[in-house]
Amino acid sequence: MSKIVVVGSASIDLTVISDKRPLAGETVIGKELLLSPGGKGANQAVAAARLGAEVAFVGAVGKDNYASEIIKNLKQNQVNTEYLCQLENAASGTAHITLAEGDNSIVVIPAANMQLTPAMIDAAFELIRSADIVMVQQEIPLVVIEYVSKICHDLGVKLLLNPAPIREIPASVINAASYITPNEHEAAALFPGLSLEDYLAQNPHKLIVTQGKNGALYHDGKEQVLVAGFKVSALDTTGAGDTFNAAFAVAIAEGKSFAESICFANAAAALSVQKLGAQGGMPYRNEVEKMLS
Ligand code: ADP
Repeated sequence: MSKIVVVGSASIDLTVISDKRPLAGETVIGKELLLSPGGKGANQAVAAARLGAEVAFVGAVGKDNYASEIIKNLKQNQVNTEYLCQLENAASGTAHITLAEGDNSIVVIPAANMQLTPAMIDAAFELIRSADIVMVQQEIPLVVIEYVSKICHDLGVKLLLNPAPIREIPASVINAASYITPNEHEAAALFPGLSLEDYLAQNPHKLIVTQGKNGALYHDGKEQVLVAGFKVSALDTTGAGDTFNAAFAVAIAEGKSFAESICFANAAAALSVQKLGAQGGMPYRNEVEKMLS
C-alpha cells in the first residue's frame, strides 16, 4: 500500500437551506440545517483512503462535539488520526454555508486549523519520513506549510501543494514542492504578470492547472499537454478539486507516470461530481478502475 500524509484542515460544514437569503438586519425562517464533514485537508485524506492508500492526517481540532464528528468520520474512512491534535480551549473549524436563491454564501471560521504549529509537525516527523508523498493545502498557517516543505525537501519526500484557497506563497515553498495543483483562477493569482503558457512552460512535470470539465493542463518540457476530462453529467462540483488532488497523489505514490496520474485524477474527480456533497461523491478505487477500463 502506498503511504500518504495529509497536513491540513478539518472542519464541519453547517449548511442552512433557505428560500430567501437574509439581508443585513433581517431574520428569515429557513428550511433545514445540514451538518457534514469538510475542510480541504480532511476531504483529501478521505478521498485518498477510499482510493486505496494508507493515509495519516496531521491537523488540529478543538475539544467540542464537532471534533468528535470530524474524528469519527476520518476513522470511518480508514484515515489514521493518531497525529490529529485535540486542543484544549479551542473550537473546531466550521464553515457556515447559506444555500439560498440558487447560490451559496459562506463564512469560514478556521479556529483550531490555524493553531496548527511546527511542533505538531515535529511529532509526525517519522511518519513524514516514511511517506511516499505528503499533501498540503492552504487552510492552515503559512509557517506550517513552510516547515513541512522544508522537511520534505531535506528528506527527499515528494510534496504536493494544492494552493487553495489562494494566498501569497513564498518562492521557497513553490520551489520545494514536487507538484502544484491550482485551478485556473488560483494559477493566475499564483503567477501574476505571466501567461498560462509561460508559467506552465517554466514548471514542466510539476504544475498542473485544472480546467473543470475540460480536464487538466501541464507542460512536458517540449509542449503544453491537455489531459482531457471525462464527459459526465455533473450534479455538484463541490470537492472535485479535493478528489483530483487525492487521486493524483495516490497514483504518483503507486509509481504511475505523471500523465497517467492526471488521467486517474480526472476519472476520480469526474465520478465525484455526479453525487452531492464534498465527501459524499468521493469514489472508491473499484469505481475509478471501472471508469478507466
Ligand atoms: P476546483 O474544483 O478546485 O475549482 P476544477 O473546477 O478545475 O477545480 O475541477 C477539478 C477537476 O475536477 C478537473 O480537473 C476535472 O478532472 C474534474 N471536474 C470538474 N468539473 C467536472 C465536470 N463537470 N465534469 C467532469 N470532470 C470535472
